[in-house]
Amino acid sequence: MVDVVVVGGGFAGVTAARETALRGARTLLLEARDRLGGRTWTAPWEGLDIELGGGWVHWHQPNTWTEIVRAGLAVEVGEETEVAAWYVGDERRTGTIAERDAVAERGWNAFVEGAEESLPLPHDPLARIDRLARLDRMSIAERMAELDLTEEERDVLAAELESLASGPLSESGAVSVLRWHALSGYSLALTQYAGGRVTLVEGTGALLRAIAGGARFETRLEAPVAAISRSATGIEVRLRDGEAVAARAAIVALPLNALAAVEFDPPLPADKRAAIATGQASTGIKVFIRARGPAIQQNAIRPGHPFGYLATEHLLDGGEQVMIGFGIDGAACDTSDLASVQRRLDDIIPGYEVVAATANDWLGQEFSRGTWAIHRPGWYTTHHANARRPEGPVVFAGSDIANGWSGFIDGAIESGFRGAALALDAMTSHRRAA
Ligand SMILES: Cc1cc2nc3c(=O)[nH]c(=O)nc-3n(C[C@H](O)[C@H](O)[C@H](O)COP(=O)(O)OP(=O)(O)OC[C@H]3O[C@@H](n4cnc5c(N)ncnc54)[C@H](O)[C@@H]3O)c2cc1C
Repeated sequence: MVDVVVVGGGFAGVTAARETALRGARTLLLEARDRLGGRTWTAPWEGLDIELGGGWVHWHQPNTWTEIVRAGLAVEVGEETEVAAWYVGDERRTGTIAERDAVAERGWNAFVEGAEESLPLPHDPLARIDRLARLDRMSIAERMAELDLTEEERDVLAAELESLASGPLSESGAVSVLRWHALSGYSLALTQYAGGRVTLVEGTGALLRAIAGGARFETRLEAPVAAISRSATGIEVRLRDGEAVAARAAIVALPLNALAAVEFDPPLPADKRAAIATGQASTGIKVFIRARGPAIQQNAIRPGHPFGYLATEHLLDGGEQVMIGFGIDGAACDTSDLASVQRRLDDIIPGYEVVAATANDWLGQEFSRGTWAIHRPGWYTTHHANARRPEGPVVFAGSDIANGWSGFIDGAIESGFRGAALALDAMTSHRRAA
């Protein structure tokens, strides 16, 4: 028997495992994939290391930043955009990024109006749920429909929000936008900076390894969990291959959209099952395109485009560059079809020849079933607290249910700290009761 079994080895699970092990608990981490990191994955491609999942970090993300400092890792800031483009209907407009941001900000500020009052404590989204409730019931699309915007403001805002939502605006809750805004000091500029400028020089993999190496615990890869049962004597975690592991407490650090595949005995309470069935709404894709053309830092946005937020990430020698794009429908974007990627590229940043393209299918994979958390309308009033509540010694973690930077690496680490504390508490109260 181990003291704590941690299910899922993303940033949440690895942090939780380190924390319980550091406090002397015999800890076993079970990860379904053949690697740790979950929705972060620093991988080689075309001679570069790329971040197929989460990559950007920021010093306003307190848990991530603490770990970066602790690990002694360096960060770097991406280059400034030289040419910004945006679309109004089919018309392409170009200018400086400041000019485009000025248009974006008019729509954004209208969208987030009231955020200071409804989210006065950005790391406690339920603090004024009474004031947040109206917007919580709305999708991003419904909120946009309330605003009095010009066509240009609307198209720029829609493109910005599609890149944030990683899913259709009609399915994504308006509160997700307010939360990013509140966590970023109620500022669009900082929201953009925190979400897309600063990277780890050695990649997110280096940060993950530093956390995992911070204490001794056992890790088993390719160990998908099928079921978790509770009895008076403790917990039994059953792997898909039938093997059973006994533990005093469990930390379930799985993506919200992957939780339904795990069976719980006794069954989870109805309100938690409802939260899991609701899941989160992201269906998007992050694409990498290697293209030949002018050595210019580009940044273009176009609503409804399969990768409608596209920007230069690296200028390479020899007139090539790597662009990163975000789209709202992973199923509609096939990066193995270079002719189609070329046509789509021409529709947003013309003048470049596609050399290679890639993406990871986070949406299609059973161990993620989506990208970053973007909660559906009604999540905060109905499901957030229920999803986070421990069920005795079975504790839930993961960025998707974090209180602060949910949808980010920071939220995963935050939830790992909380999960570890709750699991250790559950173990000691169980011992006291025994
Ligand atoms: C394309 C993309 C871009 C992103 N960009 C950023 C960014 O720039 N900055 C940022 O901070 N965040 C970003 N994010 C979000 C961030 O990566 C995630 O919020 C965070 O990594 C989630 O961590 P987690 O530990 O909660 O979940 P995960 O990383 O998903 O970890 C859960 C783990 O559970 C495992 N698992 C699933 N089912 C089972 C099972 N049955 N048994 C055992 N194990 C199982 C999974 O394999 C996985 O390893 C991005 C995410 C994506 C996908």
